[in-house]
Amino acid sequence: MLVVLALMFVICHGVVVAFWPGTAGGGSFVFLTAAPLLAAAACLWRGQRDRAALGWRATAMALLLWAGGMAFNMADALGAGRSDITPRASLLLYVLYGVPLVFILARARRERRMISLIDGVMAALLGVLFFVHTQSFADRIDIDDQAMAHMQRMFDIQNLCIAGFAVVRWVAGDAPERRSFYRALALYALSYLLLAFYINHYTSEQSFGAYNDLLIDLPFLLLALLALRQAPAPGFVLHPRLLRLVQAGGPIILPLLLLVVGTLVVDHARPLAVTGFVVATLGFGLRSTLLQIDLLERQAGLDQLARQDGLTGVANRRQFDTLLLAEWNRARRSGSEMALLLVDIDHFKAFNDQHGHPAGDRCLQAVAAVLQATAGRAADSVARYGGEEFAVIVPGSPLSGVLALAERLREAVEALPLPEGPVSISVGVGYLHPPALASAEQLLADADAGLYAAKRAGRNRVILHAHVLDDHGGAHGTLDC
Ligand code: GH3
Ligand code: MG
Ligand code: MG
Repeated sequence: MLVVLALMFVICHGVVVAFWPGTAGGGSFVFLTAAPLLAAAACLWRGQRDRAALGWRATAMALLLWAGGMAFNMADALGAGRSDITPRASLLLYVLYGVPLVFILARARRERRMISLIDGVMAALLGVLFFVHTQSFADRIDIDDQAMAHMQRMFDIQNLCIAGFAVVRWVAGDAPERRSFYRALALYALSYLLLAFYINHYTSEQSFGAYNDLLIDLPFLLLALLALRQAPAPGFVLHPRLLRLVQAGGPIILPLLLLVVGTLVVDHARPLAVTGFVVATLGFGLRSTLLQIDLLERQAGLDQLARQDGLTGVANRRQFDTLLLAEWNRARRSGSEMALLLVDIDHFKAFNDQHGHPAGDRCLQAVAAVLQATAGRAADSVARYGGEEFAVIVPGSPLSGVLALAERLREAVEALPLPEGPVSISVGVGYLHPPALASAEQLLADADAGLYAAKRAGRNRVILHAHVLDDHGGAHGTLDC
């Protein structure tokens, strides 16, 4: 259906060219302006529905600029505007057409606004430099035979850059929406590249109003069709390294182009060229710094997540193992005492069976929070040891203090105002003093033995299972209390 409509557009355009050839009637210009406008409308429509919205909108913006350039061409051909202004305006708009496209092609994924702003400034300056350079050839067209060829070569380079970068982004596209967008942009840009090359190099300068105009419709209609069809683009399996290289290397495109075009204009617009060099260097430096800050923050967040239990927010088992060993080594070096409490919720299976798993989860969160709040010393660490088991590492505290803390934990959990009614915990206490010749595993085994004893003794209680070593490292006694 859409293809038929596109064909009808081209046929109508052909009919107009057949009956009103040449530029005088302006009929062909209407189609040449309408084609990019239709494509822009399709891109805007897609931008409303797609997660690659910025890309589609930037493309729509580029197409509007192009349509503006064509409208000035029309005004020029029909003699409506002052002849020295309209060509300049249309040239400017054709140049600016590349700015949003280069911006979107250089952009990495999920970047913060400030970085996009820096890219935007670089892209806009690139457009200005490109315009100045192209205009310098346009100004010399009457006196320099080569000027036109130079200008056309500049546009070839612009189109080649856009098509090349679009293909690379398409191939490296990670998410399906982005791949679809870059595929549409790449296919459009490739067809536009070929078309512009053909029009610029193989047709005469005053070719508007001829059948060649029908060719100009094609890339825009193709883009409109691709934007309106939401079929997922086929994926490429790239090596992850290559994929990351493209994603990370994308942002170098803008400063690089700025340096290249700055070098081209250095002879006839030195201050602008210098501005280009400065903005390229500072812009890239600034965006790299901001990106680095983002990455460091993200890394810190991930590190935190890797240490945390997802449900309760206390340290997870992996972090517990690390902390236990670290505290153990510290206690061994300083010769101070160390305790470990293993906490297990009583009859939790029955709680789950009776109230459901989500209520069980909320209960675990509440217990974790109250353990955390009650074991309030900075040195004490609460961790989720297993399903409904928690561990509290208590370094540098005398036995009486450890037992008092365990009792406070038990009372605090018992006093929790849960909607399902009270729950209780059993606590096994492992205590080693001095810990020099025992091991962290021994402490864990003691706490586990204490917990087992607490369960056997009827639950909702604290039981100590401790090794107290004498000065020579011999076991002085094993206590169950
Ligand atoms: P005991 O008093 O002997 O400790 O009895 P218990 O029922 O608490 O012990 P058991 O080890 O038989 O059951 C533990 C239960 O904890 C079983 C499991 O469904 C529940 N559990 C483990 N992890 C989670 C969790 O993340 N969320 C919820 N809701 N339940 C969990
Ligand atoms: Mg258990
Ligand atoms: Mg239990």
